[in-house]
Amino acid sequence: MESTTVKKTIQKTLDQLGVKSQNFGTSTGSESFGNGETIKSFSPVDGELIGSVLSTTKADYEKVLNSAQLAYKTWRLKPAPLRGEIVRQFGDKLRELKQPLGELVSYEMGKSLQEGLGEVQEMIDICEFAVGLSRQLHGLTMHSERPGHRMYEQYHPLGIVGIISAFNFPVAVWSWNTALAWICGDVCVWKASEKAPLCSIACQNIIAKVLKDNNLPEGISCIINGNYKVGEFMTTDSRIPLISATGSTRMGKIVSKTVGERLGKSLLELGGNNAIIVTPDADLKMTIIGAVFGAVGTAGQRCTSTRRLIIHESMYNKVKEALVSAYKQLRIGNPLNENNHVGPLIDKDAVEMYQLALKKAIDEGGTILVEGGVLSGKGYESGCYVKPAIVEADNHFEIVQHETFAPILYLLKYTGSVENAIDIQNGVKQGLSSAIMTNNLREAELFLSQLGSDCGIANVNIGTSGAEIGGAFGGEKETGGGRESGSDAWKIYMRRQTNTINYTTELPLAQGIKFDL
Ligand code: NAD
Repeated sequence: MESTTVKKTIQKTLDQLGVKSQNFGTSTGSESFGNGETIKSFSPVDGELIGSVLSTTKADYEKVLNSAQLAYKTWRLKPAPLRGEIVRQFGDKLRELKQPLGELVSYEMGKSLQEGLGEVQEMIDICEFAVGLSRQLHGLTMHSERPGHRMYEQYHPLGIVGIISAFNFPVAVWSWNTALAWICGDVCVWKASEKAPLCSIACQNIIAKVLKDNNLPEGISCIINGNYKVGEFMTTDSRIPLISATGSTRMGKIVSKTVGERLGKSLLELGGNNAIIVTPDADLKMTIIGAVFGAVGTAGQRCTSTRRLIIHESMYNKVKEALVSAYKQLRIGNPLNENNHVGPLIDKDAVEMYQLALKKAIDEGGTILVEGGVLSGKGYESGCYVKPAIVEADNHFEIVQHETFAPILYLLKYTGSVENAIDIQNGVKQGLSSAIMTNNLREAELFLSQLGSDCGIANVNIGTSGAEIGGAFGGEKETGGGRESGSDAWKIYMRRQTNTINYTTELPLAQGIKFDL
């Protein structure tokens, strides 16, 4: 697409989403304001300035918190299914605005338009899930040891949920949190990534309209904008019982310590170092599709991106050749053009990290199989486009042990049984996503057993990348242990209470204790 066409499309998109070129960064729904520094949002697609937002000051933050606290008083009293009705309306609005919002995600973050639209689809899906769940926030009942007593547990809202999100899923991660938190009776304050602030303003505009149309307090959904310092307003604030933070492990360690010091709860969704094991019984075609999409999709900037391929020696050369041939067919360029497979990295810092990682891999003894490099010239003016690279490496290399948020795939060879491959797969500090490609039932089941993958996600004959909202999403070890999205992930957004009711005229004590007066 020519850059004038892109500009026209994006202007239309911003208009449809109500995002003006100069929007304030702090919002309690209908009211927007800001007094802080300006954050400029440049598109990694063409390097153009899309718009700017104002960073939230401490005084602005206090306004937001007051608004959220006030809104909570009303919102928690609304029956959960009625809260679900608001989420349903929000989901409908997202359906209407899927195209412009998907375009903005693609243009501001740099992922392909298909993936941008897919991200909005995830938002729609989680809304649907949350609507159903709003009639299902169930606790257990249990038998009391005392006669004439009944015991059960129930869940109440927590209060204000603080959401800190990463640049690579600039809208979906917020919705995973907020759709569930809302039906649970919580209100949310969102600090989006400073690298994709306009996406958060677009989302806020959409929900603010739904709240206004329903005469609901604006503070049910608030946004604040800025860098980590603005995030710290929330992590240090004991008025926020739960902080849900998505981002790097480095960030997660700081957030968890800060929130832990005030004994708050944190839900952490951090970095991954995901691997696919390729066994002697793997289907080669499926393996190549899974590995290539996993490694180069979103230019390797997914938390679930495939970073390591652990290949049995008997398959090694076949996989290697097929990968080299597949990489030759990759088209790198404007992600809004559906013909391209790989878009840009988020910014020039990310490009530098990519270059540094390749250099380190070579310094440590790796062999370049598919050469990387930064692209320049027509269509690559932003300086953020890089070539997906493949390096033959060893799991113990320092760089292989790290998550580099770029399209670099490490090939690792294993010999002998699948247990050796599992050892390599688990031999990193992160524990997000993992996969095995095999038609051998014994190997597949071992991989899924307690002796197998130590990750939060373990797949058979599917790559590591992407997940459906129906399952709980998250990872172990340095990925942070949090779970979001489907299954019973909603429980983190609520406080649990155990209730015992005595319907007799006696007061028996538990554990048979006697206390006669
Ligand atoms: P990042 O850690 O640089 O920033 C993430 C967010 O945290 C931003 O909003 C940032 O402003 C905020 N932040 C940073 N330091 C903070 C602090 N001390 N206090 C409060 N807030 C702070 O991450 P990024 O570069 O935006 O995103 C890439 C990372 O996110 C990768 O590591 C990726 O694996 C991870 N990620 C994980 C998941 C998951 O579900 N596990 C999903 C998406 C991204």
